[in-house]
Amino acid sequence: MNPFENAMAQLERANQTLQLDKSVLEILHRPDASLQISMPVRMDNGSLQLFEGYRVQYNNARGPYKGGIRFHPKVEMDEIQALAFWMVLKCAVVDIPFGGAKGGVKFDPKTVSQDELKRVCEAYSVCISDCIGSSKDIPAPDVNTDAKIISWMLAAYEKKTGKRDPASFTGKPVSEGGSLGREEATGQGGAYVLSQYAAVRGLAPANTTVAVQGFGNVGHGFAQYAQDCGFKVVAVSDSSGGIFDPDGVDVRELFRLKQQYYSFVSAPKQDKWNFVPDKEFLALPVDILVPAALENVIHKGNVSSIRAKTIFEMANGPLAQDAEQDLLKNGKTVLPDILANAGGVTVSYFEWLQNRDGTVWSEERVFEELKKYMTAAFTAVWKEHESSHLDLRMAAFVVALKRISKAIQMQLRDAHY
Ligand code: NAD
Repeated sequence: MNPFENAMAQLERANQTLQLDKSVLEILHRPDASLQISMPVRMDNGSLQLFEGYRVQYNNARGPYKGGIRFHPKVEMDEIQALAFWMVLKCAVVDIPFGGAKGGVKFDPKTVSQDELKRVCEAYSVCISDCIGSSKDIPAPDVNTDAKIISWMLAAYEKKTGKRDPASFTGKPVSEGGSLGREEATGQGGAYVLSQYAAVRGLAPANTTVAVQGFGNVGHGFAQYAQDCGFKVVAVSDSSGGIFDPDGVDVRELFRLKQQYYSFVSAPKQDKWNFVPDKEFLALPVDILVPAALENVIHKGNVSSIRAKTIFEMANGPLAQDAEQDLLKNGKTVLPDILANAGGVTVSYFEWLQNRDGTVWSEERVFEELKKYMTAAFTAVWKEHESSHLDLRMAAFVVALKRISKAIQMQLRDAHY
């Protein structure tokens, strides 16, 4: 299913409970603005190559647009629109004063040199420079983008606009105004939600097995913090395949190996490891399955193989809508992305606040505040779930949409055109 259709089907499902005002619903069915750009970039051999880029600003009723930038060969407008929509909801679930946006460039960054990569970043940043800014739209890292890339983009943006505006991007290197704890924030935030979920469900972490698909910024961080909280992480995977050890894997050691050998498959095999291809990874007999790579990895074609009782969405949109309905019918629980992975944007908000105030928070303060926001968000969603008997995604949608709808109605009341 196309991810945007998936997102709109979720909105319609939530609206069956909410019965939103007709104008609000219409506004939420389409983005405020979508930019599709074609960027000529000089390659190392002197030739010019055209790169396709996107920025979608979905809704800013609650504050400036906010959302990451991804580099991936499968980036498409529908995907970026869906991700921008989910950002609107995610910021509202954790109750931070941002709207939602997303951006991307369609290419595989592994196929270009570092110099070429830098030029793609600069070209993209210059092309979107009129639409972004610290009070307008604040990009951040996402799949295949990191602090170094954000630093290149910020420098190009400031050069183009001729003004210093570090709060116009988040996820910067700490030396350039980035927040302590931002890199760890999505994983750490997810682990706070996991601990809360285990507490309300009466799950003992030491007896709760976890498999994490994807070992990038989010998957690795989540696996590490979940293990530090006492959960039994028995499997992790990257795009080359997964490693399963029923007695538990050593996440720190796997991270070291991944850095050294680039993929698990190329690392020297250890006796207790079972290599598991991606297809089988999702079907592992664990309590909690954590898709933390890309969207739509669980779909109609593989949903019947899922054995985990809980699907904990650290990636954005990893479940196709029809697959989710099957899981729910079979009594499984889905912890939705707009709650589970909201830690990243929450610390992006802290970074934005620090840049605007000219302050620097300690890592301790960042994690303390993060815990407060994630706990409040989980509590609100769980309360809605218990009182209305909605599944957790719909409960999160209802919590978020009530807040967003109020803000849109205020905007409509004040609109004189
Ligand atoms: P990343 O590029 O750092 O990591 C992605 C990882 O997924 C890599 O390890 C890659 O090898 C792996 N992967 C790709 N295809 C795979 C497959 N078929 N099977 C197993 N592993 C596979 O990206 P990230 O920043 O960790 O983002 C991952 C997900 O989390 C995305 O959906 C992103 O939108 C979402 N997310 C990211 C952030 C953030 O702060 N970075 C915040 C919220 C949500």
